[in-house]
Parts: sequence; C-alpha cells; structure tokens
Amino acid sequence: MVRLVLVLGDQLTPDIAALAEADRASDVVVMAEVASEAGYVPHHPKKIAFVFAAMRKFAAGLEQDGWRVAYTRLDDPDNAGSIPGEILRRAEEFGAGEVLATEPGEWRLISALEDMPLPVHLFEDRRFIATHAEFEAWAEGRKALRMEYFYREMRRKTGLLMEDGAPSGGKWNYDAENRKPAPDEVTASGPMEFTPDAEVDAVLDLVEARFGDNFGTLRPFWFATDRGQARRHLAHWVKTGLPGFGDFQDAMVRDEPFLWHAVLGLYLNAGLLDPLEVCRAAQDAWEAGEAPLNAVEGFIRQIIGWREYVRGIYFLEGPDYTRRNALGHDRPLPAMFWGAETGMECIRQTVAQTEAHAYAHHIQRLMVTGNFGLLAGIDPHALHEWYLAVYADAYEWVEAPNVIGMSQFADAGVIASKPYVSSGNYIAKMSDYCGDCRYKVRDKTGPDACPFNLLYWHFLDRHRDRFEGNPRLGNIYRTWDRMDEAKRETVLSEARAFLDRLDEGAAV
Ligand SMILES: Cc1cc2nc3c(=O)[nH]c(=O)nc-3n(C[C@H](O)[C@H](O)[C@H](O)COP(=O)(O)OP(=O)(O)OC[C@H]3O[C@@H](n4cnc5c(N)ncnc54)[C@H](O)[C@@H]3O)c2cc1C
Ligand code: SF4
Repeated sequence: MVRLVLVLGDQLTPDIAALAEADRASDVVVMAEVASEAGYVPHHPKKIAFVFAAMRKFAAGLEQDGWRVAYTRLDDPDNAGSIPGEILRRAEEFGAGEVLATEPGEWRLISALEDMPLPVHLFEDRRFIATHAEFEAWAEGRKALRMEYFYREMRRKTGLLMEDGAPSGGKWNYDAENRKPAPDEVTASGPMEFTPDAEVDAVLDLVEARFGDNFGTLRPFWFATDRGQARRHLAHWVKTGLPGFGDFQDAMVRDEPFLWHAVLGLYLNAGLLDPLEVCRAAQDAWEAGEAPLNAVEGFIRQIIGWREYVRGIYFLEGPDYTRRNALGHDRPLPAMFWGAETGMECIRQTVAQTEAHAYAHHIQRLMVTGNFGLLAGIDPHALHEWYLAVYADAYEWVEAPNVIGMSQFADAGVIASKPYVSSGNYIAKMSDYCGDCRYKVRDKTGPDACPFNLLYWHFLDRHRDRFEGNPRLGNIYRTWDRMDEAKRETVLSEARAFLDRLDEGAAV
C-alpha cells in the first residue's frame, strides 16, 4: 500500500523521522505551500519566501535522491489551501491509506493531523538533543524549572565542552563576561548574503504578488535557502562573528542589526542546519584557539540550553500556553510595532530592522520591544502573534515560550523567576540609541522623560501584590517606597498620561 510521507516547511532535514521511517521505493513524499500556513498570522514576506524557496530546493534534492515527491506550489490551481486538505487530495490521487509524519512544532498542526480521517503515524522529531521523555523526567517533581540546571544535563549528554566529567575551563557558565556595552567599532562583517538564483527569484515574485502588503521588506533578499549555503554561512560566522559573540552579546548599536550574532535561528529551525553540527563547529574553533571560551560556551548554551529548554517547556505546558495572561494585560498592540511613527529611538531602530531583515537580536526582542510590551501592559497574545509573524526564525514551539514566558511573564513564572523589566538605564548602558532619541533617558519625569522610566515604576506599582515578595525585586520596592510621595505621584500620573496617549493612537 502506498503511504504518504508529510514533510512540512520547517522539516527540511534529509533524515527527518518520517523520511527515515519511509520506503523510497513505494511511498510518496507530500510537500505543499498552503495559504493557511502562510496566512494564519501576517508573516514577514522574507520569512514566507525563505520557507517556500528552501522547500522547493529540498524537494528537488529528495527527487534527485530517488524519492517520488508530490509538491504543490502556492499558485497551483488544485491547491487545497491547507495541510489536511492537501493530504486528503494526495491520498485520493495516489490511493494512499496512511500518512507518516514528523511531529509538528505547533499544537495547532498536531491536533489537525490527529483529527484526520485516515491514520497518521506521528514520529517524534529527533532533531533535538532532549526527547520529550527526557525533558519530562528532568522536570518531574522540580519546584522551579530553571534553564541552567537543564543545560548542565545537556552538556553531560552531548559531551560538549566537557573534560573528564567536568566543564571545560572549570565553570559551567561564563555569562558574567558577556555583558559588555556597545563597542565604539563593530568589526564583525554580518551574515553571509546570497544572491537569489532564478528559482528563488520566482518565489520572490510569487510572494510579492500574494503577500506584498504584509509588514516587511522582501527585497533585497539575501538568506541562504539550502543546506550548502547555510553551512557556508555557518563557517563564515564562526570565523568572523563567534570570537566577539560572547563579549557583545547584549549590546545594541544604531544601524547595526547583526553585530556578532550568528543569524542561525532561521536555518536551524527550518532544518537546514543541525544543532549539534553548529555547536561542534564552535567547539572546534575554541580548540583551535580561534575563539575564546566565554564566546563558545555562551553560544553552545543558547543552542543546547535555551533552545532545547524552551522546546521542552512548550510541549510540557500544553496547547493553552499561548493564551496565558497571568498579569491580565489587555492593551492592543501599538501601531509603532508595525512601523508607525514614534519618537522612541530604541523601538524605531528595532522595528525598522525587523521590517528590513525579519531579524532582531535577543536583547532587542527582550529588552526593547518585549520590555515595552510588558511595562505598557500589552496583551501577551497580540505580542505573541506579532513575534510569530515578523521574525524569520519564528515557529510557535520556540517563539511562544520566549514571548509568553520569558518576555511577558504571562505564564506566571514557569520560565522566568522575575519579570524582565528595566527602566531606560539598561537601554542607555547597552546601546547608543538614546543619544538620538526625542526623549531624554536621564529625565525621570517631565515632558522629555524616557517612557521606560515612567512605565517601569507604573508596572511595579500596579503589580505590587504579585511581585513585592519576590526576593529579586524587594530592593527595588524599597527604593520606590523611599522616594518622595509627590514624586511617586508625578511618575504615576505621567505614566498614565503616556498610556492614554498610546490608547488614543497618538505617535509617542
Ligand atoms: C521575545 C522573544 C522572542 C523570541 N522569538 C524567537 C523565535 O521566534 N525563534 C527563535 O529561534 N528564537 C526566538 N527568540 C530567541 C532569540 O532571540 C533568537 O533565537 C535569536 O535572537 C536569533 O538570532 P541569532 O540566530 O542571531 O541568535 P544568536 O544570538 O546568535 O544565538 C544563537 C542561537 O541560539 C539559539 N537561541 C538563543 N537564545 C535562544 C532562546 N531564548 N530560545 C531559543 N533559542 C535560542 C538560537 O537558535 C540562535 O540562533 C526569542 C527571544 C525573545 C526574547
Ligand atoms: S531615551 Fe528611552 S525611549 Fe529613547 S532610546 Fe533611550 S531608552 Fe529608548
């Protein structure tokens, strides 16, 4: 009997579980560009183009390897428009009675596959270091699920940066060395750029016609779209970016979107690169004396620590996770997140580069847009949909724990032991944004006061009941309480006035 082998757009790995279980002599691989996946949030056009172009190249590679591939293009007149629809159409066409699939990274698609009227065999995605069972066993009985302890397990499991059972250099974590502020000069050369070939160009034309109105600039398009290119980008970054990755990991510099960051998330998450392969490349560079330990450890921690950990949390917490809203925040997403005018230079910089590249680095996502969203009380689900739409590396399993949990504290502290909030001081220290801003970061009140300074205290004050007893926030509440009462009232009333302006849709 013919079986269909479903390969989704973020499963572009030749030995992905469903393909490993299939028989290339008799089974048919099904791949489809469908409107429901491209349109359930308004994805950045660069992201859609990346996924479609990489899918087309991957499908061609499978055919060269002897697979029979039924590939549906977005503009195919018979396109059923959804993954379940395409499976049913292809099942009829090939007389197939069963489907082999690798578990999708999103509850929505998992339940769609489970509800299919024909048997679907779902195999666990083996491209991760921790299995679901291992993560569950680690989480079992723990009061707090902190990443650092999970990360050490993953170091032991992979043997990365381990010597005789102990961490290389004697410490598990060199993060304290990785918080240097914005440097005077950026020496990293940025990600490797690839000129679109004819095949990619055809995808760009299609995306322009169908999704040209979405937020985001399609051209110039420079992403890698196959494994060979992604590996060249990795080698380039290990040479040019990795050595400075640690030191300036948290820095933000005007008009420098990439700094020393790897820009690997989109390739890893789509399956073009393997997490262990990128970690080994970093470890090799350290062993060859080409990159310092704080950079290499910091990078490996992001991949086998944070990336694996957030995936574990997503599947552990279940399908309602993206609807959590522990702090009861319900303000709509401000228009400046979609590029509308703002005087806040840090937001303007972050949104403008997101629009241009479908990319912002971690600290911009966490401490600029995320911090603003949390302080201003923006609806976490609206933020979740925004992050999912605008970043090329965004898939729900990795995006939702970062947004709902780490950034918005909407999961009531499953991920973060305290909310990631800061006044303008943090942004001033880590970036050169404030010099060009309409607001003054030194002003705590008054017409030019940095909105982060006002909203920071407003947030802490309105959530006092929840956070006052948090040992990591106690000192901050004491500072607030020591402030002159009239000053406190001024801060709060100016914060309220700012939020009113935001609600009225004014450019802030
Ligand atoms: C609010 C918010 C939303 C985010 N949304 C996403 C998302 O949709 N997709 C995504 O892959 N990452 C997301 N992250 C994590 C992180 O910001 C991105 O992985 C990173 O910025 C991607 O850029 P890079 O490849 O240059 O990463 P680098 O800074 O160079 O780091 C290297 C790699 O480490 C991994 N990594 C680092 N931090 C994390 C993390 N917190 N969680 C998971 N993996 C991590 C990524 O694979 C990344 O490519 C989010 C973080 C925040 C705070
Ligand atoms: S002054 Fe405030 S709003 Fe302006 S860039 Fe600095 S932190 Fe952002």
